[in-house]
Amino acid sequence: MTLITSFDPWRSGLCTCPPKLTFNPYTGCDHQCIYCYASSYIPSFNDCRPKKDLIVQLKREAAKLNGETISIANSSDPYPRVEASAGLTRRCLEILVESNCKIQIITKSNIVTRDDDLLNKIPSTVALTITTEDDSLAKIIEPWAPTPSQRLRAAQGLIKSGIPVSVRIDPIIPLVNDQPQKLIAELTSIGVKHLTCSTYKAKADNWVRLTQAMPKVVEKLKPLYFQQGEKIGGSALLPKDLRYKLLKDIRDLAGANGMKFGVCREGFAQLNTATCDGSWLMPKGKRSA
Ligand code: SF4
Repeated sequence: MTLITSFDPWRSGLCTCPPKLTFNPYTGCDHQCIYCYASSYIPSFNDCRPKKDLIVQLKREAAKLNGETISIANSSDPYPRVEASAGLTRRCLEILVESNCKIQIITKSNIVTRDDDLLNKIPSTVALTITTEDDSLAKIIEPWAPTPSQRLRAAQGLIKSGIPVSVRIDPIIPLVNDQPQKLIAELTSIGVKHLTCSTYKAKADNWVRLTQAMPKVVEKLKPLYFQQGEKIGGSALLPKDLRYKLLKDIRDLAGANGMKFGVCREGFAQLNTATCDGSWLMPKGKRSA
């Protein structure tokens, strides 16, 4: 099986990402976010395990890279809890920094700061997903991920060490985290220059988890998603005009705070004020040998 593949977000016509490659060191993820989409198509998702023949195979594939951007990762988090002791993602980065590529990390974990020495060796950016600044809310929706406070400190540390950071408020769930004024103020204060946002897309299994965690919220969201909303690619979405308004309001807020903005898989390219995935932050050229 090939480890590094073309980034193809479920063939979604709503994606506005530039061409890039994707690589997941792990299959599955142990953060157990209630809204996770990947759990709907990867068996035993919470059982986080390394890819088969990870290191041997990666060495083979990395030798063929030719300056592409590799997004790590899109169907799992490259820094699950087990990574703190296993160090497999670090081993992968050690291989990749010796090859010809650029790296875009997408994570919810502060463990990424451990690897800033490697990320500083080649062009790289980190997209930290921070859905709320509220640690107690995060405990409900992202029970095993590091707290937002830890992630904010990680963002600050990475920026200080010279690695550009974007933040993903992904997903935005109405009535839960759709008023990110305080979060955006905190991001501004630590120097985050790009925000990527996406609204929650309901799938059968994540809807069950959301219902168990937040029954009162779900009661209000149900007609929005399943009567007035749209069905796209196996997911139920909020009504288009509501999605647009939610995202535009946050875009305006981000702009007022000096941040660029992009939407993820929403089909509203007109709202993007920069490359949606924050890859415009990627430093040019190799920074150190
Ligand atoms: S961190 Fe990402 S892949 Fe892991 S459970 Fe949460 S949403 Fe799913």
